[in-house]
Amino acid sequence: MGDQIDEITIVGGGTAGWLTAAFLVRYMNLRSEEKPTKITLIESPNVPTIGVGEATVPTMVSLLASLGISEKEFFKRCNTTFKLGVRFTNWNHDANGQATSFYHPFETTDSQLAGQNPAYHFHKYGGPPGRENIDQCFSVCVAAIEKKLGPKGLDHGDYEKHLNYAYHLDAGRFAEFLKEVSIERGVNHVLDDVDDVEQDDRGFISALQLQRQGRRPVELVIDCTGFRGVIINQVLKVPFHDYSKYLLNNRALAVQIPHRDLENIEPCTTSTALGAGWVWRVPLYNRIGTGYVFSNNFRTDEEATVEFLSHLGEDGKDAEPRAIPIRVGRLDRAWEKNCVAIGLSAGFIEPLESTAIYMIDNFVKLLMVNFPDKNFAPGLAKRFNDDTERMMEDIRDFIILHYCANNRQDSEYWRVAREEMVIPDSLRTRLDDFKHTMPVTTDFDRSFLFENSSYLLVLGSKGYFDGVKFPAERFISKPDWDRRMAETDVHENRILSKLPNHYELLRSFRGET
Ligand code: FAD
Repeated sequence: MGDQIDEITIVGGGTAGWLTAAFLVRYMNLRSEEKPTKITLIESPNVPTIGVGEATVPTMVSLLASLGISEKEFFKRCNTTFKLGVRFTNWNHDANGQATSFYHPFETTDSQLAGQNPAYHFHKYGGPPGRENIDQCFSVCVAAIEKKLGPKGLDHGDYEKHLNYAYHLDAGRFAEFLKEVSIERGVNHVLDDVDDVEQDDRGFISALQLQRQGRRPVELVIDCTGFRGVIINQVLKVPFHDYSKYLLNNRALAVQIPHRDLENIEPCTTSTALGAGWVWRVPLYNRIGTGYVFSNNFRTDEEATVEFLSHLGEDGKDAEPRAIPIRVGRLDRAWEKNCVAIGLSAGFIEPLESTAIYMIDNFVKLLMVNFPDKNFAPGLAKRFNDDTERMMEDIRDFIILHYCANNRQDSEYWRVAREEMVIPDSLRTRLDDFKHTMPVTTDFDRSFLFENSSYLLVLGSKGYFDGVKFPAERFISKPDWDRRMAETDVHENRILSKLPNHYELLRSFRGET
């Protein structure tokens, strides 16, 4: 007990800071009831949060449940909506140069029609009418999205469901909500700026110098100060691995626009590719968040704004997008001495698959399992750093996949994205293998988030397997495939019949009906 860390100091009050605080206060106090660990969050009253980050992945559902947060309350407070997957539009073109679309859904029928052969090779026989695309053959989410259905019944309680889902949420309100929950549970909140730090003779951070309140000693400090990385970058100077050789985009334009047709609100994020990047569209209950993620090697801010507003059309009338520089890459070590970086300070991969909050969640969990005492055994930091590096590289590879497998011929940006960017060996090996066999579960044993079904659906939808003759196909019979598709129909109809309209579900969840 004597060596136990008595106080954890979090610097930064964005999503990363408050999520870390909410998680630690929920679990740390439980761990040592005799002498609870004190948690203090210091937040600048002057530096705004980044204010974007509104789409999530399904692990967010179990995260909120584990924090003991009421899901219905969260929906009301954060203007939350349901998300069943991502629709990718215009990322690839057909033989006539026309834009095509596909979904990356959150649930595949493989997980539901348990015990059956994964059957992806069967798709080579082609889907029956209405299921021509690979995503339509393997996920109920696709039909649910197109019919604008929610993932659970009107009578379902918090976190119950028929289909896997994630959320769209208002980032500013979410941080506020987490702040309230955390303070109520015992987090000490300080509004002040960290101006300077003191280091001991080992280079550990021994105290923070606050602008108003003066010197504040620290034991373990968590740097959640966003892209600035006030301690991890500016003081500890941990090297940064820039991902710009892999991924082109380095700027974003963001804006909020009103709903035109709230009753038909879509349960998905849409990503539409433009000439030098892509546009996100995240439907919240009270508005739509949208933004253009692009590369300034191909567009100035002014050119990108013109292109973005023209894409939004009437929806973008009077909109004044805000430009946000993006630092894409990761720290060499997110845990250095007695400082752990979580959130944008630790690194960022462009938001194409909405993975940043997922990473925050996992960074905090990895900190929990490797939690140090005052001696800071070096092995703990190494385990944390190795795992967080692997997580970020896994996610990076999956994002690169979307670009390197594009077939667009209409712009220099898409040609460079396909032909000139570096493909890391980890992804190159997989891509080479997947010309001889399709991805299977065991290929992704140690992966954090994206597994074989995600690789299959994205690669298959982009035509990566077209023209490839897999030896395994010889052993798969057409009648088996037809049977499988017939079972899929039954399964899908059974699920869809239980799902209410998304808007109706939101109203009921918010207590408005
Ligand atoms: P910030 O929000 O920048 O917060 C930094 C905090 O540090 C602030 O409270 C600030 O006041 C404080 N601070 C700074 N300096 C000091 C100081 N000296 N002293 C005291 N306090 C200080 N994520 C997703 O999961 N899904 C998405 O769809 C998504 N889309 C994104 C789109 C874009 C264009 C970008 C750039 C990011 C997106 N993200 C997304 C990422 C997401 O926005 C962030 O991961 C998330 O908001 C966490 O940010 P943060 O808390 O690390 O940093």
